[in-house]
Amino acid sequence: MHVCKTVKETGEIIREWKQQGFNVGLVPTMGALHAGHKSLIDKARTSCDKVVVSIFVNPTQFGPDEDFDKYPRTFDRDKKLCEQAGVDLIFHPDVSDMYEGKHNFTVQVPRFYNDKLCGKTRQGHFNGVATVVLKLFNITTPDYAFFGQKDLQQLIILKQMCQNLNIPAEIVLCPIIREESGLALSSRNSYLTAKEKEKAASINAVLGKIQELYTQGVTDKDKVFKQALELLDNSIRIEYLEAHSLNNLDYSDKLQHNTFIAIAVKLNNVRLIDNVIL
Ligand code: AMP
Repeated sequence: MHVCKTVKETGEIIREWKQQGFNVGLVPTMGALHAGHKSLIDKARTSCDKVVVSIFVNPTQFGPDEDFDKYPRTFDRDKKLCEQAGVDLIFHPDVSDMYEGKHNFTVQVPRFYNDKLCGKTRQGHFNGVATVVLKLFNITTPDYAFFGQKDLQQLIILKQMCQNLNIPAEIVLCPIIREESGLALSSRNSYLTAKEKEKAASINAVLGKIQELYTQGVTDKDKVFKQALELLDNSIRIEYLEAHSLNNLDYSDKLQHNTFIAIAVKLNNVRLIDNVIL
């Protein structure tokens, strides 16, 4: 497995692979890898000739009051996981390799996408994500790029970016991997105590209840949300619970096929998100 710190070295290796006719799958991550990330890597491994994992805690997608400094960085452990999972190359740049100078060009995500869900409270977050992902795509020229349903708004935005900007990478959606309790795996779960994790399991219980009521034929969104929210642990503060179209992120006032329900909460200042596709 190659471990590359520089854009130049990464580009050279991948160009060589491409000349030999191999296709490339990219799994972009911020490290602190867990079974959720591993599921993306496994999917890439079964469908691509060469698998590249990027590990980069991207400063431009964190707001000034967010957790960039304390975000978990566990490179040695991540490297082992990648090696065992059969990854061909880890791209692990320094911030200075990715952002030289002061006057960087960036991707501006349209307001339609930026003002919804996580974009409402995380100003500039998706511009930072889109910019770094476009850079990663230009550096690694993937045929396929694997993203988790866990960050569904991100995935929809990136798909749209590829379509609008004619980026020839195919975005592959991978299902959410959860703890036994139902809590979606996240690098940020490491901020939670065991007791808090028990409480956090109620987030998925809310989504489960919504799915259950929808399956029973109840489509009145407000009624369903009210009943489901009774399951949320009362120490958890809700930021949003909303229904949106899976195709284009439009608001949905009814529960229907191809709608997803997204939730964001704060538990003792730890921000957690989850969603379910109906
Ligand atoms: P991150 O390291 O948090 O930026 O995540 C890197 C990728 O892993 C993103 O595409 C996430 O959506 C995906 N991911 C994170 N958590 C999970 C999970 N529990 N299940 C599946 N994919 C996940």
